[in-house]
Amino acid sequence: MTKNAKYILEIISSSKNHLTAEQIFLMLKEKNRSVVQAMVYNNLSALYKQGLIRKISVEGYPDRYDNVIQHDHLVCRICGKLTDIKLEDLTEKIQNQIGIPMLSYDLKVQYICEECRKKEQENPGRERTDYDENKEEAF
Ligand SMILES: [Zn+2]
Ligand SMILES: [Zn+2]
Repeated sequence: MTKNAKYILEIISSSKNHLTAEQIFLMLKEKNRSVVQAMVYNNLSALYKQGLIRKISVEGYPDRYDNVIQHDHLVCRICGKLTDIKLEDLTEKIQNQIGIPMLSYDLKVQYICEECRKKEQENPGRERTDYDENKEEAF
């Protein structure tokens, strides 16, 4: 593993947040001005392929990267914020049902975060765009 890959892995593993490639790039740039964005993207994709990091995709938001320790996520439907939740590991149950080797699963629970709920109460209807309504149909 290259020094940069190792460093990116370290940033993701130690972060409490769910960082985007852009945020990781900016963090690296603080340490090393010569860092280019393509390097970050290439390393992220290599780390992901090796199963060393997790990628969380939410429609309408840039991909976010996370450690591979078993946990699931709450996703705010309005602002896209991710929050970790710890549920039982379903790997075995799923594995038993499908009967063929599984790779991983990704559980996302839709909700409206406290901040957004507060905003909605203060300004009913303001935060709900057409986009949010379209999204609702998907679930
Ligand atoms: Zn929210
Ligand atoms: Zn997480």
